Amino acid sequence: MDAMNNHAAESHPSCPRCDSHQTHLVSESPVAGAWVIYNSPFGFYSWRSTEPDYATKAEHDNPHFKIRVEDIPTFAQIPAIPLRTVLSQACD
Ligand SMILES: [Zn+2]
Repeated sequence: MDAMNNHAAESHPSCPRCDSHQTHLVSESPVAGAWVIYNSPFGFYSWRSTEPDYATKAEHDNPHFKIRVEDIPTFAQIPAIPLRTVLSQACD
């Protein structure tokens, strides 16, 4: 069983970036108790428990770097995803 499923019932910290409570345990240190890695299903944010407070604790993250989950679908795509060209039309 992988780490994520093995600890599904445990309480995980909130995401420092979006404050989501739906975070997942991704990995644990080979030496038990040294560190764990969590990620958020929103915004691709991941963090190791041994990183500084600004990167691991929601209440310490810079408010300018916070994201709202409901805003994610409207974020700009950088670089923009080019429109798909259909080859049969390109050869006409
Ligand atoms: Zn998040």
